[in-house]
Amino acid sequence: MLLKSWSTEITKAACRPEARTVHCVARLAQNIGEVIPYLNAVLGGYTYVKEPPSMTFRNQGKLISVHGDHIAINALRDAGEAEKILKWLQREINEAWERRAEITPSFQATPQPQVIEILRLLPKTNCGQCGQPTCTAFAALAMKGHNRAEHCPALSPTAKEQLAAYLTRFHFDG
Ligand code: SF4
Repeated sequence: MLLKSWSTEITKAACRPEARTVHCVARLAQNIGEVIPYLNAVLGGYTYVKEPPSMTFRNQGKLISVHGDHIAINALRDAGEAEKILKWLQREINEAWERRAEITPSFQATPQPQVIEILRLLPKTNCGQCGQPTCTAFAALAMKGHNRAEHCPALSPTAKEQLAAYLTRFHFDG
């Protein structure tokens, strides 16, 4: 097991004391720098830095940055949600490390979904049923991983599958 434990610091953005979300930094007890290219291949970071290795990816609307000695996660409800994501990430890290002989490491950022392509797959009626004023607003949120195909009730089952398949290509939840 590569990553065994960490300690967490939970903070609110000092510049936005009214914010309802918190930020978490997990200080890792073991350095995980060597696994980052393998994790990048599995999870698809939208940024990747070679030296020292680090990657950032989106998951469930959060931005998660993984460095050798720490992990940062934003837009969290509370410390409980941070711990849940860290436990999941620990499993991903340790699994990528155990399977590294089978994984081709990736030293590049993964291409990101395009708003125009997401929009192309939406009904473009601006009906507002999703809670967004326009389909473009919905697409912009989906591009950042905040919206999934299931959040547009106006999509037909086939169109829903197509949009989910497109988003999944970028390691987003479809
Ligand atoms: S529910 Fe779908 S069709 Fe309606 S505005 Fe939202 S994204 Fe567009």
